[in-house]
This record gives sequence, structure tokens and C-alpha cells, in this order.
Amino acid sequence: MRTYVYDFADGDKDMKDLLGGKGANLAEMTRLGLPVPPGFTVTTEACRCYLAEGVAPAGLDEEMATHLRRIEKTMNRGFGDPGDPLLLSVRSGGRFSMPGMMETVLDIGLTDVTVAGLAAHGGERFAWDCYRRLISMYGSTVEGIPGSEFESALAALRREREVACDPELAADDLRELVDTYKEIFRAHTGTGFPQDPVEQLGNTVLAVFRSWNTERARLYRRAEHIPDDLGTAVNVMAMVYGNRGTGSGTGVAFTRDPATGARGVYGDYLPDAQGEDVVAGIRDTLPLQELARLDRRCFEELTRAMDVLEHRYRDLCDIEFTIEGGRLWMLQTRVGKRTAAAAFVIAAQLVDEGVIDLDEALRRVDGVQLGRLMFPRFDLSGSPEQIAVGVPASPGAASGRAVFDSRRAAEATGPVILVRRETNPDDLPGMLAARGILTSRGGKTSHAAVVARGMGRTCVCGAGDLDVDPQGRLFRAGSVTVREGDMISVDGTTGTVYLGELPVTPSPVVRHFEGDLDAGSGPLVSAVSRLLAYADTLRRLGVQANADTAEDAARARRFGAAGIGLCRTEHMFLGPRRALVERLILAEGEQEIQAVLEELLPLQRADFVGVLAAMDGLPVTIRLIDPPLHEFLPSLEELLGAVTGRERALLAAVRRTHESNPMLGLRGVRLGLAIPGLFAMQVRAIGEACAIRVRDGGTPRPEIMIPLVGDVRELALVRAEAERVLAGIGDAPPIPIGTMIEVPRAALTAGDIAGQAEFFSFGTNDLTQMTWGFSRDDVEASFLPQYLRLGVFETSPFETIDRRGIGRLIELAVKEGRDARPGLRIGVCGEHGGDPASVWFFHDADLDYVSCSPYRVPVARLEAGRAALPRGAETGGSVGTERCALVGVTSVDRIDAS
Ligand code: PEP
Ligand code: MG
Repeated sequence: MRTYVYDFADGDKDMKDLLGGKGANLAEMTRLGLPVPPGFTVTTEACRCYLAEGVAPAGLDEEMATHLRRIEKTMNRGFGDPGDPLLLSVRSGGRFSMPGMMETVLDIGLTDVTVAGLAAHGGERFAWDCYRRLISMYGSTVEGIPGSEFESALAALRREREVACDPELAADDLRELVDTYKEIFRAHTGTGFPQDPVEQLGNTVLAVFRSWNTERARLYRRAEHIPDDLGTAVNVMAMVYGNRGTGSGTGVAFTRDPATGARGVYGDYLPDAQGEDVVAGIRDTLPLQELARLDRRCFEELTRAMDVLEHRYRDLCDIEFTIEGGRLWMLQTRVGKRTAAAAFVIAAQLVDEGVIDLDEALRRVDGVQLGRLMFPRFDLSGSPEQIAVGVPASPGAASGRAVFDSRRAAEATGPVILVRRETNPDDLPGMLAARGILTSRGGKTSHAAVVARGMGRTCVCGAGDLDVDPQGRLFRAGSVTVREGDMISVDGTTGTVYLGELPVTPSPVVRHFEGDLDAGSGPLVSAVSRLLAYADTLRRLGVQANADTAEDAARARRFGAAGIGLCRTEHMFLGPRRALVERLILAEGEQEIQAVLEELLPLQRADFVGVLAAMDGLPVTIRLIDPPLHEFLPSLEELLGAVTGRERALLAAVRRTHESNPMLGLRGVRLGLAIPGLFAMQVRAIGEACAIRVRDGGTPRPEIMIPLVGDVRELALVRAEAERVLAGIGDAPPIPIGTMIEVPRAALTAGDIAGQAEFFSFGTNDLTQMTWGFSRDDVEASFLPQYLRLGVFETSPFETIDRRGIGRLIELAVKEGRDARPGLRIGVCGEHGGDPASVWFFHDADLDYVSCSPYRVPVARLEAGRAALPRGAETGGSVGTERCALVGVTSVDRIDAS
């Protein structure tokens, strides 16, 4: 017989797959002797069975009944006992934290009979308050009654009694509210509120299982790359009450600041309230330090428990606790979510404190986080108008149009800031779509703050100066009124809200990479610099940059690139040089072509001198021209009103050279073979630039790369011509000639191609496009979002390498290429070269280097170091580490739009 239920005393923190994160950690706290209310966990396996079969697994009810008796014994109360009833909380808790996405029901076990027993011990007001909470939570969770119906009834009662907040409602008011709630329940279900506590419990457990599959939970999992088939565990625990008057309360605590990583005790406390009130952000909380004043003993016990947990988990922990009548209860702990900055700072601190080693520290940060730290901040030199200050909940600088509704935010085009009084899980689509989130209520642990931090979205919450009117689609802040569509800016690092769009300045981390800030200039820069330096000592993969100008090359070098893996020469044909390309296309006869090429030669040579100088001593892989030449001509629309002779000639050329599928047309090596002298001119420019650099005392290391090769004979022809040209140039060192592997046929015939290539570089953009048969310029805007929704992809194959398909082609080409030419140097220069998950694949595929845009170079360095760490030796409990183990690292946001 399978076991579907575990007592808290029978599990531990390593049983997350079965007990979920919350259940495993409750078990661990119980083992550590911390004051956890007694309870049990129904396993994720039971959930999976239920979701697959539609019925609870056989024996589950009996197992729960057995464990329930243990709780009754420990608490010395009976479930359903009219004299002194035991009440239960039922909470979801999957393998990975999904804050607020699934269901919780409190106070299970209250009925028309037991409410009197509760009143006898806790007072009338308290008992009726619990009962009305149960009916609304059960009603919405189990029966799907809209929560707004209960909220409206409560708001109407507040208005009628002319009170501002719930604690001002008297016992009789709440008794009346229970009757109203029961009517709402009957109107929706056709039956009365269930009066059998066991039936309440059984139905709630199944409803929590079902909540795994709600739309919002699925959306969250997709955004966070959490697999859909894990299911949730359900934690059933004896109720303890924070809403039992002034000696009671509830709070959230962090063992370090989750925003900055600073050491200390952080959190929020809300007297006379239940846990959901804190997370919902609907009442303003006190800073946790206030608890020391209100209840010194409990505060000290809590800080001792925090020490125990940090010591045990060897990481930042967050904790939910409740104080009932002066007694502390620990309701939950986990390795806490944190901002990217805090992740780096805490990892370095823990190394200094001797808690973890550098390997472990490197496992606890990732390239996605480093990418976030490289985002710019607001430039305040223009003294922008500050309209409010709130809690800096999730760092970053975001400008966008204010939108007051999540659905409209999700549908908007262009950057938006989602503005709400507070958010709840239904706001997720808008939060995902928004650049930034702004709320007028709630602290660092409100729903908005927790979810935004998890997603890396900029967030300011609890900006109490804002009077948000979602119906009127506006907010007021003092004398300023901001309407939907007006531009605002939110600074999630300082909590400040500004009117209008603000310019931005580089992040301190970028300034450090640029050499403007030294490593000692603060805990964040110091931690990043230290962990990156350590990654550099571990990594086997080289990291180069995709750069076409001397300026980009110099930046890439400052960011740690060991050369250029892709210099796209077509970028050198833009601007004023376009006219020369036009002449090339219009040229009649070889002589005219040669004349244009002669004019292009010195310009190209000067470009190459600049790039080689910026990367002196390091390899510079120069790719000969790749795109179809007609891309340099004006568009057909521009020319339709052609009047001059030249315009008419251009129009004719545009018509003549038009291709239905230009990406599969006359480009790359095909162009080089079709237009005599074009590649030769570029090769000459490279050779002569190299000779100039040698004469100037430099150490140029150019390499020539041929794009779009599909057959070795194409490469052989170009190679022969290039060697002829180079042989005529004195003073230049030998220049290696290699090819991109970006046409599937090239990968399949890599053994042949290696005979003519001194190096390979995978062009994974084209390789993905051609292997899938997807137009890379079109799919992102057409069916890709639908494919992501349908689960065909977890991430775009243009972002993260498709291991099963493209990955196999790469592995095959690496093997056959190196079999044919031992020691063949192999890199990658498609967009995937800077994508964290893909970097791990390239490490595993035994490539020599990755090449990516300059801003992604530090990300690739960090991930290449992480990929080289021993696998399966993880000892820490960090959220990031766990996720990596299961689904691979997530891809980094594009940050190269500088
Ligand atoms: C590629 O195809 O991956 C590549 C780097 O070349 P481009 O993006 O310029 O086609
Ligand atoms: Mg390409």
C-alpha cells in the first residue's frame, strides 16, 4: 500500500518532490524542535493520481483520519467537538514556490454547532469572524463562488455600520455577515454550507489539488519554467490564531534583506490579524523591529529560530509566523526569494562567514540575475517631478504608460506600468506584460512585491500618497492627477515614482565592467566581481564577442571578451557607403564592378585596422559579407514614384533582384561566388589591415570566416581565391580560414567541410531557422506565442538552443569535424552564445568558445564557470540551484539594446 500522508514529524527538508517545498520545510522545522503546530502533508503523488483519475486515490480518507487523530491528541481538542473544537488550515505547496497561485482555506471544522464552542474559548466576535472567513474561503475555493461577492457583502456591512475597517465590526455584525455569506453560498450551490467537518476537509483537499490547474497557476508556471506535471502537496495543520486580540498577530520575517542582501532582521508584523492579511497587502504592516517593543519574549524567540534556520539551510530563509496570545508559532519557512543583487551579495557574505565555499556561492547565482543587474537606472540630473515614494520592492528603472487594469495592461502595445491599489493572483497577466508595477498598499511581502521580485519586474508598492481609482482609470498624488495612458516612471531601487519618462544611466555593475568603479566600491560590485573572477578560473569555454566596430570591440574587451567571434562585415556597408553598394548592383560589366570594389577597399581596410587595434593580441573572426545585396537598396515602395533615370534604374534592379525567400537566396558564400571580386576585395582589406597593424607594432590575429556554406566545394573555391589574394600581401602573418556551420547540410557533412576549414563556428540563428523551417524574422510575431501557450516550446528555440534537434546536429558536426581534423577549433556565434541555458549545452558539447554581444559577455563568463562546476554535488538549498537541476537555467533577458 502506498503512503499518501506524512505526519510533519516524519519528513525532512530533502523530501520536496513528495511533500512539496512547504511540507518538507514544515517537517524540517518540526525536527529542529521549533514551535510548529501539529499537522500532516498529503503528497504530490496523491495530487497527480487525483488529477489523472478524477477521484482521490483509494485509502486517502482513512490515512487522513489516522493522522487527524494524532493532531487531536497533541492539541487535546476534537475535530467537530462542540465544546472545544479543533480547527484546521489547509494549504497548497508544490515542489517550487508559486506564491498566491493556488488555494488556502482556514478554520476548517467550524459549523453552526462548533462555532459556539469556539466562542466559549475565544469570544463571540473572534468565533464569528473565523466562521465568516471559512465560508468565503471554502465557497470560493471549493465551489468556485467569485470572491468579490463575499467582499462586496463585507464592504456593504462596513458602510452600513459606518466603520472604516473590519476589526471595528462587532460580534453581532459578524454573525449577520455569516448569514449573508450562507445565503450567497446557497444561491450558488443550491445547498447549505456543509455542516460535517470531515466533509469540509475532504472537499478542500481535493479543491487544492484542482487549483494546480487553474489558468493563473499554469500561466505562472510557464513564466517560471516550472513543469506542469508535478502536482501540489497539501498541508493540513492545526489552526493557531493571530486575530485573537492585541497579544496576537502575524508576520513575515527574513533572515537577511531580500532586496539588498544586507544582514539583519527584516520583515513585517500585523497585530491582531491572520496570515493572509499580510500577504494580501490590504492592511499596512509594522516593521518587524516593532515586535521587539510589543512582545520582547516572542521577538527573541523568533530571532533565535531565525538563526537556527539560517544555520540549517545555510542561506537566507523567509518565515511566516503567528503569535497567539503571547505564544509564537512557526507556520512556514523556505529558502527565500531575493533580488538579483541580494543573491550575489548574500552568496559572497556566506563565503566570508565560512558557511559555504566558492563553488556553492557560484551555484547560488546565475546569468539571468547578472543580466538584470546590468540594466540601467534613472538619470535624475534633470530634476524630474517626484510624485510619490513607496516601498522599493523589486529593483530596476521602468518608464511606461499608466494602466489601471491587468487585462488592458496585457493587451497594450508599448511599455506600460500596471497601477493597482494592491494586486492579487488574477493580476498575473498584467504583471507579466508590464515594465513595472506600482501599488498604493502593501509592504515588501505583499503579493505585488513577492511576485515582481520573482519575475525580476521593477516594483514599487505601498505608495500610500497615491489615491488609486481603478474605475475612473486615474490616480491622484497631491495636486497631480495621472490618467490612464500618461507616462510615469518607477524606481524599484529607491521606491520613487516620477511623472513622465526619464533618461537612464548605467548600472554600477556595468560601470564596474567599464572600469569606472573599482571592485571595492560597494557590496554588490564586490560580490559580482569576486564571483565572476572565480567563474573565470573554472570555465573551460572561452568567451568572445560579436562586435563590428572598434568601439564595440573595446567595450567587449573591457567586459572580459577574449577576442571577437563574429565581426559582421555587412554593417560596414551601411550609411554613406550604401551608394557604393547600389553602384555595385547597377554595374554593367566586370570593369565597373572592379571600380566600385576599388573604392570600397580602403574603407573596409580602415574598418579592420580599427577593430584589430581594439582587439590587439586576441583573435578577430571576420565574416565575409552575408546578406543579399538587394537588402542595401531602397524598398520597392520608396521607388514606386521613380522619376529620375537613376531612380528608374534602381527600381529595375529591385525588381530584378527580388527574391521570395531572401533568407534562402543569394547570400553568404553564394554571393561571394556569384559576384566576382567581392570576397577577394574583403580578403585583401583584411590582409592589408593586418599588415598595417604589424607595421605599427601590433599583434593582429584576424581569421576569415565564410558564411552559409552547405557543401565543401563552395568553401574550397572561396578558400583557393582567398589564399591567392593573401599570398600577394607581404608582412601579414598566416590568416586561418574557417566556416560557419549554419546550413543543416553543412552540419551533416561536417567531416568533409573540416578538410577545408581551420575552424567552425555554429551560426545557430540560421541553423535553427533552416532546421525548423521557421523564418527567424517572422515567427516571433506570428505563431510563436501560440506555440509557447500550447506548450510546443518552453522557450523560443531562437533564444535557448533546442537540444533535441539543433543540439544533435551540433554534436554530430563536432564529432565528425574533429574526427576529420583533430583539434579543430569550434565555437558558436548565434544569439544562443549569450543565453545561460545554451551556454551549458555548449560546454557539454565540448565547444571551445561562445561568442555573444558585448553586454552578454559577463553573463556567458559566469554561466561557463557554473557549467564547469561538478554536477550533482550541490549542497545548498537555494531556489535557483534547485530550479537549475530540474529544468536547466532560464534564458537571460535581452540587455544589449544599449
Ligand atoms: C547565425 O546565423 O547564427 C549568425 C550568427 O549569423 P547571422 O545572424 O548574421 O545570420
Ligand atoms: Mg547566419
